[in-house]
Amino acid sequence: MKDQKCPICGTGSLRKEIGAETFEYKGKSISIPNYVTYACDACGEAIVDNNTMKKSGKILKAFKREVDGLLTAEQIKAIRAKLGLTQNELAEIVGGGAKSLARYESGQVCQSRGMDNLLRILDAYPHTLNVIQKKESSSKTTGNIAYFEEYKYKMGKEDRLKGKTSAFTVDTQEAAYGS
Ligand SMILES: [Zn+2]
Repeated sequence: MKDQKCPICGTGSLRKEIGAETFEYKGKSISIPNYVTYACDACGEAIVDNNTMKKSGKILKAFKREVDGLLTAEQIKAIRAKLGLTQNELAEIVGGGAKSLARYESGQVCQSRGMDNLLRILDAYPHTLNVIQKKESSSKTTGNIAYFEEYKYKMGKEDRLKGKTSAFTVDTQEAAYGS
């Protein structure tokens, strides 16, 4: 971008500047080092370098997550690994599509508070995945909470994905579809 005319005013020329840039969000601030901009000597506008924009974008999203108390990209990835699901499979359950989920995990996009809550619930109570996936009616599962707890420990990853394990599940499905 050396000796390039300023696209804002069209008269000044741009000069590369590298320095720390401070950003604020909800009263908290973060400093990003080696922030590259091209400043116009005439109008004073500064254009942010593309690479800097990409890198700082991720840093700022992570900062926003931290300030807002949202799960980090790594935590989301870890939750999905713990559930034993692919991005497609988890996206089917939480909604929003596999692309969105991939962006949460790469740190490109910040998840909503609702999405964050849902992921935390799945993390804390992974056996609830069964209720969601099989769409079991509540009347069939009432009174089986204790069984459910036990069921959670018996359940292997593969079995959960295939959607069949204990007698409990089979019985429920027969009750739901058989009659
Ligand atoms: Zn200018």
